Amino acid sequence: MYQKMKGTYDVLPTESGKWHALEKAIRNVSKLYNYKEIRTPIIEYTELFHRSVGESTDIVSKETYDFIDRGKRSNTLRPEGTAGVVRSYIENKLYADKLPVQKVYYVGPMFRYERPQKGRYRQFMQFGAEAFGSSSPQLDAEIIAYAVSVLKALKIKDVTVRLNSLGDHDSKAAYKDALMVHLKPSITELCHDCQTRYETNPLRILDCKIDNNHPVLVEAPKPMDYLTEEDANHFDAVCDYLDAMNIDYVIDKNLVRGLDYYTHTVFEVEAHLETLGAQNVICGGGRYDHLVKSLGGPEVPGVGFAFGLERLLFALESIQFKGDPQYLHLFLMILGEEQKADGMAMLNRCRLGGLFADIDFMDRGMKGKWKQVEHHNARFVAIYGANEKANNKINIKDQQSGEEVTISKHQLYNHIVAELMKPSHACTSCEADSCDDCEE
Ligand code: AMP
Repeated sequence: MYQKMKGTYDVLPTESGKWHALEKAIRNVSKLYNYKEIRTPIIEYTELFHRSVGESTDIVSKETYDFIDRGKRSNTLRPEGTAGVVRSYIENKLYADKLPVQKVYYVGPMFRYERPQKGRYRQFMQFGAEAFGSSSPQLDAEIIAYAVSVLKALKIKDVTVRLNSLGDHDSKAAYKDALMVHLKPSITELCHDCQTRYETNPLRILDCKIDNNHPVLVEAPKPMDYLTEEDANHFDAVCDYLDAMNIDYVIDKNLVRGLDYYTHTVFEVEAHLETLGAQNVICGGGRYDHLVKSLGGPEVPGVGFAFGLERLLFALESIQFKGDPQYLHLFLMILGEEQKADGMAMLNRCRLGGLFADIDFMDRGMKGKWKQVEHHNARFVAIYGANEKANNKINIKDQQSGEEVTISKHQLYNHIVAELMKPSHACTSCEADSCDDCEE
């Protein structure tokens, strides 16, 4: 038997409703903030990620899926979304568009060769957003507000937004020098990875999961203390806008994030829910003012975030999120071989008219058919047998009210539509009997 690759998973038909509901919420909130969807390829040339994410990051140095294609070029399955979006922004000259600020979002699979565990996969889904063209701290605040609104829309409450600033070039360079001077005498006491990071990417030492309580790190200088006045003002303004919007956050002076391209604001959203286990960071993001230029575009600033959708679904599990309700408007029971052609025609007319409808394809007895009605959560059951055919009639049962009627078979579609239009106590959005998801 073939098995799925390690670190991957199947979304089975019983689970896809949750994904649809999650993606629907994401798309709705994206509309509120005026971000439009962008779809870029899953594979890109390898150099793109080396240039953007950074050679020394864990993602590029240890985790990418690379392969040489038949034209002998190195390709990489995207490990994150920003690089491809920036490539597309430059290649399609979106910076020359009438709109000075381009706001986009994406939803799609990413690939990282990581050690799989709950909430960490080798193929996983991210929802990310990027805004290009303005260095205003208003845009940093908007992107954080947008991320928080997604969680609000999903009713995920127990979260913390952690925020920090790395500043721009000058601040980052001054901080890097100070950090290296501070760490130098004790570097051999830190883990092997940190010793390598000291040479390649010293900022990453700050968020090392192994050494985070080591005194040399606890006492290490923090990026925030090396911000130039201008960069400090930028950060203060971001905080002021968040305060004005009543968005809670905590300042985490050790937050640096794992990707090289960040400048100024960096943030993460942590959810405090049992179902998440150790992987409780559900969103990460920040500003990247020089990434567009470093990938060959003009000097255009940007800011963005990415959510891990599996982790969002785990978070939703703990609040008993049900996803899109699964139901049928009609289950048509065709009794007898001679009725099948007519039955198929009726079924198809109902479907073309917009009804969710199905039949039994297995010629099961009545008991088996009723089991399917239950399984599909069908609202109406219509029975079409030899008698019905002879009389041009059809019997319909409303599973919600228990009422049964016999009508002309030509009225099947109209009857169901009319019944569905009747006001009831049922949820008006999805017609389910009682629905917590659609009700505000
Ligand atoms: P990053 O692109 O590393 O900033 O990650 C952004 C978000 O994607 C994280 O906060 C996680 O929610 C999610 N994420 C990152 N790596 C994985 C993974 N291997 N499996 C599942 N989710 C992930």
